[in-house]
Amino acid sequence: MSRKSKIIITLGPATESEEMIGKLIDAGTNVFRLNMSHAKHEWAAEMTQRVRRQANARGAYIAVLFDLTGPSIRTGDLEKPYTLLEGDTVEFRKASAAATVPLSTTVNYDGLMGDVTVGNTLVVDNGAMLMHIDVVQTDRILCSVKTPGTMGSRRHINLPGVRLNLPALTEKDHKDLALAVECGADYIAGSFVRDSAHVRELRAAMEALEGEAQIIAKVEDQEAIRNIDAIINAADVIMIARGDLGTEVEFEELPILQRRIVKRCHELGTRVIVATQLLESMITNPTPTRAEVTDVMNAAYEEADCLMLSGETSVGRYPERCVDALVRISSRIERSGGHGFGQNALLRDERQKTARAAVTLADSLPDARLVVLTRRGVLANHVAMLRPRTAGFYAFTPTEAVCRKLSLTRGVRAFKLAFASNIEETIQRLSELLRKADLVRPGTPIVIVSDILSDHFAANSILLHHT
Ligand code: PEP
Repeated sequence: MSRKSKIIITLGPATESEEMIGKLIDAGTNVFRLNMSHAKHEWAAEMTQRVRRQANARGAYIAVLFDLTGPSIRTGDLEKPYTLLEGDTVEFRKASAAATVPLSTTVNYDGLMGDVTVGNTLVVDNGAMLMHIDVVQTDRILCSVKTPGTMGSRRHINLPGVRLNLPALTEKDHKDLALAVECGADYIAGSFVRDSAHVRELRAAMEALEGEAQIIAKVEDQEAIRNIDAIINAADVIMIARGDLGTEVEFEELPILQRRIVKRCHELGTRVIVATQLLESMITNPTPTRAEVTDVMNAAYEEADCLMLSGETSVGRYPERCVDALVRISSRIERSGGHGFGQNALLRDERQKTARAAVTLADSLPDARLVVLTRRGVLANHVAMLRPRTAGFYAFTPTEAVCRKLSLTRGVRAFKLAFASNIEETIQRLSELLRKADLVRPGTPIVIVSDILSDHFAANSILLHHT
């Protein structure tokens, strides 16, 4: 595999058939995402089975990601949608309160009136309508419409810059989390994570259920941006959820925030996903716009771990073409190098310093391969975060679950390998696997980095071996 950027696709009606899942794996998908805002439990369980079967049939390591809905604020049900014109007064009230103006709707969050103040902006339907908050009372707020539109049922509300006292996980999230654990999810994403305590709460809830997934924190509002370092340190992976984040900040800020978050993730050693609208026009068109090509190119050039598709593959007309487009664009730009944020990675312990030495050695040897022996994938992730330039970067690990989790990590290809009781034997076994996969020739230099020289001797070490 010459491509380093990994690909996440969101499953939906357009891609739910087992045949299509197989095709998407063949096209280059590394991770399948189930968006629990839309997925029924039976469907999500069935999708997990289909992904597992198709991956096994190909001997591929593919991860499944359950994306929890999180505590989003939504308007209530309306008998019929109504039009809002500029200057109209619209009311958002608690479910228990009666309407006092004709243009009124309930909201699903009773704490809203306590969190907002007069002058705040309220955004409806992912940016479609903007309102100015004029009056705040205990059971309602009154707003004047700034951008006209149509108010429908269960519309999403954003409050840019407002600190919301929403819980980390809703009742629905707890139920979805239990399902994710039952299905053996490899990754679980928390939505609207606003501080590191939310990440810890999700991890604790998952561990209480004896789940072994890794935790993705979706960064989607200004509060999360303010707490970004703590969130990056608490999570296994960060997702830059540009859909919601884009409605929370002025649009010209979004690319700057993306770059800052990707850079900070490199520095602090946490993997990062760039998500949403990478190929939005391909929901209906067979080819991307020039601007989309440039956006994907930019994310790959920033050396994000993963590029994520949402509507493009869940409901779009051209899911395979979308994956192919990501493969083509990212492979092309990767040949031209990248931003090199990995150069600034903070090396906090001896293991990370050993990883740096191994990457430096492998990058300095023409046509070398880089191999990591890793039990839990931690060392492989440290090495990947330094963004090695070698053509081949492989992780060998005894468990399939770790192989699957590494499908989200940039640049690395995982192999399952039982470690022998001595390092010579382990090297022989891994060389054999690389030879069989046609990834080395006789005499190819292999830089091996490991903290387990044998099953009874642990030491950070780098070996240079020729096949
Ligand atoms: C986003 O807002 O960009 C995102 C990925 O979240 P969701 O699709 O769950 O709204």
